[in-house]
Amino acid sequence: MENTLRLAIQKSGRLSEDSLKLIKECGISFSQGIGKLKCEAFNFPLEFLFLRDDDIPQYVSSGIADIGIVGENVLLETGEEVKVIQQLGFSKCRLSLAVANDFKFEDIRSLEGKNIATSYPVILQKYLDEKKIKAAIHVISGSVEIAPSIGLAEAICDLVSSGSTLLSNGLREVEVVLKSEAVLIGHPQMNDNKQKTLSELLFRIAAVQKAKDNKYILMNVPNDAIDTISKILPVMKSPTIMPLTIKGWSSLHSVVKEDDFWRIISELKQAGAEGILVIPIEKMIS
Ligand code: ATP
Ligand code: ZN
Repeated sequence: MENTLRLAIQKSGRLSEDSLKLIKECGISFSQGIGKLKCEAFNFPLEFLFLRDDDIPQYVSSGIADIGIVGENVLLETGEEVKVIQQLGFSKCRLSLAVANDFKFEDIRSLEGKNIATSYPVILQKYLDEKKIKAAIHVISGSVEIAPSIGLAEAICDLVSSGSTLLSNGLREVEVVLKSEAVLIGHPQMNDNKQKTLSELLFRIAAVQKAKDNKYILMNVPNDAIDTISKILPVMKSPTIMPLTIKGWSSLHSVVKEDDFWRIISELKQAGAEGILVIPIEKMIS
């Protein structure tokens, strides 16, 4: 039975680079010829299809591709029946309502009877229905942010990450409709062999993601502070302790979550830790 998985990813755009990076970090190598729409991995049963992001959910729901990487925004807009297998944590953005700076916006009811330009009519309509707001939705496929200045609409509903595009178009974000990130989606049915390949891929993705959240930390500590410092560190198990050639000092090694590290750094120093090194981890398997 065929065990090669077909993965649909964006050909070029905001999802492409991070999608390919994730696959490479999973130890899967391939050579993507320029302009090619398909390629195969050398060392893993995986085949790539390079597509427009909007087409990815449909390719996966129809089974032409087994899995795909796409933004939640696109997935919800197309409404295709696929399984969300895993949040991937990149291409984070939000779908937001924005109005011209001089528009009097108090709350969502300020949009009653107004015109809203968007490329996401399905998600927007659902949102407006939930809020019981009636507004006219104008579907445009690109450059939505110019709609207010050319008199097409009073508001827009568009993707935002930093907000700089809104700012430079004299717009102000007033309401977040949806938060989105890249997700791994899959066809609801897969044969057992493909399922096995998928499990192996998910195992590797988990190891890569876990490694990103954690850092390897080393520091020199006076022996009489080892207990105190070990208690400060939220460690996986217990820290590794090795004697230094300087009498009365040890080197203490551990793994910490990056967020925790910033929280406890001053406590570590206060307890006597010196020469603290924080090193990235490539893969982490628990
Ligand atoms: P395609 O040619 O494949 O249709 P596109 O122009 O529709 O590409 P991109 O702009 O490359 O799409 O964005 C792809 C996805 O990246 C979006 O659907 C969204 O999930 C995510 N994204 C993250 N940040 C942003 C942002 N600031 N603006 C737009 N999309 C973003
Ligand atoms: Zn697109």
